[in-house]
Amino acid sequence: MIQQTDITRISVPTDTVATTEQTNVYLIDGDESLLLDPAARHPEVDAAVEDHDPDHITATHSHPDHIRGLTAYAFETDATVWAPVGYENRFAQSTGVYPARTFRESHRVGPMTAIETPGHASDHTAFEVDLADGRSAIFTGDLVVDEGSVVVGGPDADMAAYLDSLRRVRERDPDVLYPGHGPVIDDPIDAIDRLVDHREAREQAVLDALAANAEEVDEIVDRAYEKDLSGVYDLARKTVVAHIRKLDAEGRVRWDPETEQATLVGGQ
Ligand SMILES: [Zn+2]
Repeated sequence: MIQQTDITRISVPTDTVATTEQTNVYLIDGDESLLLDPAARHPEVDAAVEDHDPDHITATHSHPDHIRGLTAYAFETDATVWAPVGYENRFAQSTGVYPARTFRESHRVGPMTAIETPGHASDHTAFEVDLADGRSAIFTGDLVVDEGSVVVGGPDADMAAYLDSLRRVRERDPDVLYPGHGPVIDDPIDAIDRLVDHREAREQAVLDALAANAEEVDEIVDRAYEKDLSGVYDLARKTVVAHIRKLDAEGRVRWDPETEQATLVGGQ
């Protein structure tokens, strides 16, 4: 018998850099029920938790705007709290709860299957479920959004891993994506391709800046972005550094993290 998998999405206000200023909390109710990304304590989440009585709780990653309500809901339910293997301490520090169980790639977590998707954060995980109507759905956290783009920058981010994670989710050819912020995505391939194109265009802009002899990060940022960056400069700078680190790992650019200078390899 195929169990009906029922998905409840509740968008709650959070302190997030996402332009939505909201994070999606999900209740996934299949043969077992699960609370995903309890971003905040919220009356609608309270009601859904009461309704679905989750057996499991986990998060796509341990950034604050995805887990602030985790402790409260973990204590109020008998749910098993899960975290990715190797990230138990980080998870405990962020959420205040030490995970009872851990998962890795392709493990079952209640009604879902884990897909390791590092890039936005090194502990980032997407989760796949089969819906009752035969469609497949993936919860993408901060890997895929319908509009704009997600932050890939800072010491824990990895642009090459992010792009690889996008490709791996695309290969599964999901019918629907449930993102961490914003609306449900009914055209996953288009949404993923848009994000890949966006990153490729930015990478090319960074390469063009380098080809025009920009070496200092700030100079590269100024050339790679044609828009006014007031208010988001720091984010843009982190993004550019993430692109440069990727290009450096590929041997196309030489990056000196001390001086924060980059040069093209072989005068591309
Ligand atoms: Zn995040």
